[in-house]
Amino acid sequence: MTTASIDRSALQARRNVWEMAQEQLDDVAKLIGLSEGIHLYLRQPKRVLEVSVPVRMDDGRIRIFTGYRVQHNMSRGPAKGGIRFHPDVTLDEVKALAMWMTWKCALVNIPFGGAKGGVICDPKAMSPQELEHLTRRFTSEISIIIGPEKDIPAPDVYTTPQIMAWIMDTFSMQKGYSIPGVVTGKPLAIGGSLGRDKATARGCLYVVDEAMKTLQLQVEGARVAIQGFGNAGMHAATLMAERGYRIVAASDSRGGVANQKGLDVRGLVAHKSETGSVVGFGGGEPMSNKDVLECDCDVLVPAALEKVITQENASKIRAKIVAEAANGPTLPEADRILHERGVMVLPDILANAGGVTVSYFEWVQDLQENFWEEDEINERLKRKITRAFREAYDQAKRHGVDMRTGAYAVAVDRVAEATKLRGLYP
Ligand code: GLU
Repeated sequence: MTTASIDRSALQARRNVWEMAQEQLDDVAKLIGLSEGIHLYLRQPKRVLEVSVPVRMDDGRIRIFTGYRVQHNMSRGPAKGGIRFHPDVTLDEVKALAMWMTWKCALVNIPFGGAKGGVICDPKAMSPQELEHLTRRFTSEISIIIGPEKDIPAPDVYTTPQIMAWIMDTFSMQKGYSIPGVVTGKPLAIGGSLGRDKATARGCLYVVDEAMKTLQLQVEGARVAIQGFGNAGMHAATLMAERGYRIVAASDSRGGVANQKGLDVRGLVAHKSETGSVVGFGGGEPMSNKDVLECDCDVLVPAALEKVITQENASKIRAKIVAEAANGPTLPEADRILHERGVMVLPDILANAGGVTVSYFEWVQDLQENFWEEDEINERLKRKITRAFREAYDQAKRHGVDMRTGAYAVAVDRVAEATKLRGLYP
């Protein structure tokens, strides 16, 4: 690696994700002729809450964690978005993720605004008791702004259905009765929805299927590489393999594994649950987490964290389709390179919108106290996702822009319309 390229990647790592989110909005504002007032309004979050979360650790010491809940916009309904537990959480990251939730909910046309939460912590280094205490105290601290009619959290990076159960219980105990609609992604036994665990991956599959059809590519045997083997990546591997795609590479934060003949996904999932990583799986050759992005494949699914596709590696990506199961994996400068090279990037607000769509179904079921069959949920999800793909694709064609900008054009226009109709208070 030359010094220049080292400097560049260091620069990209520092690239501020909140500025990146604002830049994406600025680009589309120009394209659709958004009025200046609404543009400025949508450029900032509505509300930001920072909390200190004291936790008594197993050794008796007290540690103070920092957490955030950001509500970006509520013009179309209550705010919605996950909570992330990760050592690298920053306020700027949570602001960006909250803004992306606003666009995501608008794109799939569910009646929610956007929010996100995060706690700076390393859940892998914490005991279940410590995690429970952290979750309960964080919930209590943000309970002043969440609720089924205000702001509804959900899982995100390193947060699980069990953590959602603790959020639901803490909020309910404070109010004195059960309020399942305060959070989605819960276990089934306490008001969760069938299909929610695989929903992000299923939505991603539907979007990739639509893109394959549009580009007249054959699904059977199409080679897929997946970076990230958490909830989104692991279920995407399983569902895509069932559908006839060939999974040729998969990785997680510790490393990856590749096999052009196709990985045995069932074996790989079992290996991951036993060892905590895909590393060391016998059915392929080792490959680094970073190299998976550049490996020989037809569909690349970044399913981990932000800012992994940069101006450094965008020209080396060999896939024809990039499906963003993660939020914010592609930098704007990389977007431009991929678009010029004819790679179709299916943006996060479309490719991972399956999760929040089934979260919406979960919330509706909780409020109605009436639960649906899994077939019905998957069918409704498919309709919403394929319609969103078509709408984004039509805008992209109409303006001669990439799919991200097309999707933003649909979403931002919907939020702007709601904002205009409601008018400025007071
Ligand atoms: N964390 C997921 C996302 O980024 C799901 C959010 C939700 O279900 O509210 O879309």
